[in-house]
Amino acid sequence: MRNHSATLFEEAKSYFPGGVNSPVRAFKSVGGTPLFMKEGKGAKITDVDDKEYIDFCCSWGPLILGHAHEKIVKNVGEALLKGTSFGTPTTAENKLAKLILENNPYIDKIRFVNSGTEAVMSALRLARGYTGKSKIIKFDGCYHGHVDSLLVKAGSGLADTPTATSKGIPESVVNDTIILPLDNLIVVEEAFEQFKDQIACVIIEPVPANNGLLKQRREYLLGLKYLCEKHGALLFFDEVISGFRVHFSGAAGYYDIQPDLISYGKIIGGGFPVGAYGGKKEIMAHVAPEGEIYQAGTLSGNPIAMTAGYHQLLECSKIGFYQELESRTRDFVSNINAFCEKRGYNFHLTTIASIFWCVFGKKDISRADQIDASKMPTFSKLYHNLLERGIYMGPSGYEVGFISNAHSESVLNDAAVKFKDALKATF
Ligand code: PLP
Repeated sequence: MRNHSATLFEEAKSYFPGGVNSPVRAFKSVGGTPLFMKEGKGAKITDVDDKEYIDFCCSWGPLILGHAHEKIVKNVGEALLKGTSFGTPTTAENKLAKLILENNPYIDKIRFVNSGTEAVMSALRLARGYTGKSKIIKFDGCYHGHVDSLLVKAGSGLADTPTATSKGIPESVVNDTIILPLDNLIVVEEAFEQFKDQIACVIIEPVPANNGLLKQRREYLLGLKYLCEKHGALLFFDEVISGFRVHFSGAAGYYDIQPDLISYGKIIGGGFPVGAYGGKKEIMAHVAPEGEIYQAGTLSGNPIAMTAGYHQLLECSKIGFYQELESRTRDFVSNINAFCEKRGYNFHLTTIASIFWCVFGKKDISRADQIDASKMPTFSKLYHNLLERGIYMGPSGYEVGFISNAHSESVLNDAAVKFKDALKATF
């Protein structure tokens, strides 16, 4: 059998560092050759050797309706015929913003950018400009894009590097980032005492999903809000994954907690490069040109990306969308977990909404230091057993799986049979 992916990867290595345009795609963590995909429809993708997979990566989260959803394809096609970019305001931006703001009471105003990283980076500047303070608190294992100041102990992509922090980041920048463990309010209080009047914001993935799925307690998130208010800092929810995934209003809506700033990405662009940040009116009023904190973008609010995002979110805004997706995910996860329990495997899937993660143990964990890194070779074995049986996941044991609305009950039943078979071959 020909392996076109291997040939293409060899070629790609002569063009791109490590053969890829984003590190985790290189399969370094699971070994073997990355698969080159050529098409996707609904819950399935097909590689260049014509092998089909049920896709639980879903482009790392954006595709909550699955691949090539007909409404997105149709409307993007029509928008393309009218021009790809104008560098002026367009009605497409207004439409998407209206849909979001009318259905999300946790932000008053929004600014569209081009990626999750850009959203976080811009909102951080806003937090610093608004408070006049420079330090930030971030949590071990939370990833917030490849922003210099946040690329410290930042989850999956860096989990395999010796320092867990990228080179090329000045000490002076890192010194303004305070890293704390998740699920511990005492250390947060101590940091506020130690760096009195210096902390601009506390940034957290309210559903940390970049270093496994480290589900947090609502009381803990509320505790962070209380400490931020007490010490004059902003609470910043990075919802690039959880936004429009766990609820239309993201984790803010899921837990009903009002942060000061929120960043979005992934789902908001319907598979196109879009990010956004938003917050309360009085904070957003400081963004240029209304205010004094500068941020701009040649392609920000791009009409094609806005159209894709609008039609994706329109589907998500339908009554019952999230409940249905969560219930299907729960059935899939329970099915696998019952099988593992019966066979005595030291393994289970943990889940929230339509996200799941492979845990090599019986208990859910809430902090990065509870992850058993010695189990990653077993994940690699499982990973290749899954691939062989036609299941595609993000190629790292620290990555979560995503279920889309195109993952129907019958697709998930088929996936469960394949998953169990892969587990049998692994344990
Ligand atoms: N923040 C979170 C929570 C993310 O998961 C990611 C990407 O995975 C980012 C920020 C960065 O987004 P992007 O890759 O679009 O720059």
